[in-house]
Amino acid sequence: MKFIKIEKESWAAGLEKASQSFRLIGPVKEEDFHNFKQLEKSELPDLKCLNTRLSPKSLIYPQSEAMFEYSLDESQEDHHIMKEIEKDYAPQAVIGIRPCDAKAFILVRKNFDTPDYKDPYWLRTYEATTFIGLACDSPCNSCFCTTAGCGPYHDEGLDVLLVDSEEHYLAKAITEKGEGFLNAAGWDAEVKKDKASNQFETGKKTAEDKITAFVNTDRLGKINTIELYNAPFWEEVAFSCINCGTCTYVCPTCWCFDIQDENRGSTGMRIRNWDSCMFPLFTLHGSGHNPRDTKIHRVRQRFMHKLKYYVDKYDSGIQCVGCGRCVRLCPVNIDIRRIGELMNNYGAGKDTCAA
Ligand code: SF4
Ligand code: SF4
Repeated sequence: MKFIKIEKESWAAGLEKASQSFRLIGPVKEEDFHNFKQLEKSELPDLKCLNTRLSPKSLIYPQSEAMFEYSLDESQEDHHIMKEIEKDYAPQAVIGIRPCDAKAFILVRKNFDTPDYKDPYWLRTYEATTFIGLACDSPCNSCFCTTAGCGPYHDEGLDVLLVDSEEHYLAKAITEKGEGFLNAAGWDAEVKKDKASNQFETGKKTAEDKITAFVNTDRLGKINTIELYNAPFWEEVAFSCINCGTCTYVCPTCWCFDIQDENRGSTGMRIRNWDSCMFPLFTLHGSGHNPRDTKIHRVRQRFMHKLKYYVDKYDSGIQCVGCGRCVRLCPVNIDIRRIGELMNNYGAGKDTCAA
């Protein structure tokens, strides 16, 4: 592991140089909010942005992704044959991704990269991407990453972690990919490991001390699944939900999708689109039967999946990195931290809904 000092005067020139080898992506302000976008020539990522409104999951897993195309024209020799659409898997680098969003890809990978099934689109794009993270020195009051298996200086899923030290950036090169990016940018001023590690440790402690929101998860794995499923609090939890799906669309760890064939005239495409467990159509069967036909079923599914089924299936924590987006953006203020407490406390004598 190497530590490199990047003078701020060399930041723009370094990115310009790196752009010869990587497509650069970073947080950019659009009207009132920041989102991740491909950077135009000489455009810089806005590293003052604490967190983007939408998570960067669409960089690896687009909201709509065409997978195959076909012709319905029977005069064509290859009619009704699915043909894979060519895609661009050129190297890309995401500059200024926050530790929670990078860790989220590790969680999501469990769905797209299994011993039985490997999603070629997700994996090829992920492998082609280098993640240049930025430590969070001023976390939001809705962030609860330190109790969600992450943290403001967490480096899992990152290739480089940058710390902003006012006059320069200190870069920790975590992987070979990360070193490759720093080399491509021409940043090579190595800093002694002891000195740099101390700076990281001090920054980490200061940043972690600023986190004021937490979620307890210690009992989730032990609680009986059926009993938790039948807990009386779900009705109250679901009451105000309007099933808008915002929480799932902004979440970096939600991965559900639907696949549809879209025809136009005699041609068509097979497209994968994000879907949401909060939508009634998500589970509607062709027969007309819907196993999750009420709001309670759908709301319970979202929280049981994130905080119980995932915990039981993978034994590696919750399916949440504590980014706080769903807390900030739910129009009716449903707060996963509160639901987490209800679930974690269930059966421990503290399982009422009194807020
Ligand atoms: S954002 Fe809030 S209201 Fe919308 S589906 Fe999610 S929990 Fe329900
Ligand atoms: S569930 Fe909410 S807090 Fe957790 S990762 Fe998703 S959007 Fe962030």
